Amino acid sequence: MKEVLELRLNSDFAHLLFKADEGKSLGTTVKVIELSIDDPRYNQVPIIAKELKIKSDRGFYFGWKIKRKYSKKELDLATLLHLKIKTVFEPTGEECGTLFDETTVCEICGANRKQISPLTLKSGTIPKKDIAKTIGGEVVVSKKFANAVKQRELKGIVLTSINFENGASGYYQLAASMKVELSTNTVAGVDPWDFSKGSEGGKYNVSSYQIKFDKEIYKCPKGHTIGLNLLSEPYVINSQSIREHDFFASKQMVGVKRGLLHPEPIYFCSQNFRSMVEEEKLSGFEWEIAHVE
Ligand SMILES: [Zn+2]
Repeated sequence: MKEVLELRLNSDFAHLLFKADEGKSLGTTVKVIELSIDDPRYNQVPIIAKELKIKSDRGFYFGWKIKRKYSKKELDLATLLHLKIKTVFEPTGEECGTLFDETTVCEICGANRKQISPLTLKSGTIPKKDIAKTIGGEVVVSKKFANAVKQRELKGIVLTSINFENGASGYYQLAASMKVELSTNTVAGVDPWDFSKGSEGGKYNVSSYQIKFDKEIYKCPKGHTIGLNLLSEPYVINSQSIREHDFFASKQMVGVKRGLLHPEPIYFCSQNFRSMVEEEKLSGFEWEIAHVE
């Protein structure tokens, strides 16, 4: 596996750490750089970012993404795969009239909202993929996906019809009937260098917009959430059900309640599930390896 960190740097300051011919410019404001974790400059990034923030209230980078590349053999040998959904869209179920029971919500981290009606979405907004999710974490799959699951008798998959404003949509909401437990080797954090368990809130300048943040807890003391973003490959505690089912959601969640965003589980699947996606040419999926221990 090859792991790199993709950084979206502020072009004005990229020269503080990188040579002019490194990376790729996106317009005049953003420079995209791929940085290996072993690169000695990796640990310089947060130091420069902090200095810039203090000195001139400017950002060194706008965004980041951890990219992992596997060989076919590595993926083929994995007992469990981390299923990543590539496409995210709006509006959410909440904005389209889906009903939720908020009485079960954790007052610390905002997890555990219970959906109590079929998912309702806005027609014409679902991406043309076989899997996608809303920014609220609702997972949507195509009829083609639903038919393939049925034919192959995959286990652990719950599919419920999704409605549009004026009737059935032809899409399904995907949920897992089985839960797996993440082990403490799973690393989550705010970003690759910031493992804070929460934020105090306050006002920040983001790309010259003033944004107000409320106090947030990323690592719930009740164990519901483990951090704002997943940083490592996931580690899962072994159980009998892992070999008997094809689809799972993690018990612990990642993220925070922020507007329409909610903590979300990590999804996992079997090699049978992956074969289905590849043989039926289903779109919108991405795999990483999950470690079972
Ligand atoms: Zn909680």
